[in-house]
Amino acid sequence: MRWTTHQVGAVGLALMLKLPAAGLLAAALGGILPDLFDQRIAACFRCRQKAFNRIHRGFTHWPGLWLGLLALALWLIPPQFSTLAAPAALGLAAGGLSHVLLDMLTPQGIPLLPFTHKGRVSLKLCRTGGPGEWLFLAAMLAGLAFWFRESLLDKGLAGTLASVLGL
Ligand SMILES: [Zn+2]
Repeated sequence: MRWTTHQVGAVGLALMLKLPAAGLLAAALGGILPDLFDQRIAACFRCRQKAFNRIHRGFTHWPGLWLGLLALALWLIPPQFSTLAAPAALGLAAGGLSHVLLDMLTPQGIPLLPFTHKGRVSLKLCRTGGPGEWLFLAAMLAGLAFWFRESLLDKGLAGTLASVLGL
């Protein structure tokens, strides 16, 4: 999936979790973090593209990693500890989880087990950059509009954005 689709999915999830602005920003980063990790790891090798093709959608795309980080964020960072750290950690982990779930829709899929490319799961519903991905993006935006329908009808788009961001 393209990064725009990942970021819409990640921020959409963060909005549904009612995370504040720090959590929304962290979710936008978390939504592309698995691919960023793969790029950074591949950059350590002499033949970057070859290394990227070999490692992409490996451990960084294992759902257990992001579920574990989400659990850590929920249990180790109590909300009263910090008004910034807790929502940022939650947003980052939720964004990463949404990323791997969206990648699961494509033919390459994601690993069910860490450190192996065997045992992958793929729903094969759409290809990256294909019409199916655009349909998913449109469906996510429509879902968000439905989720916030009362606020959108009452306050409009600008008012809804302002209230979501706590402005
Ligand atoms: Zn990915």
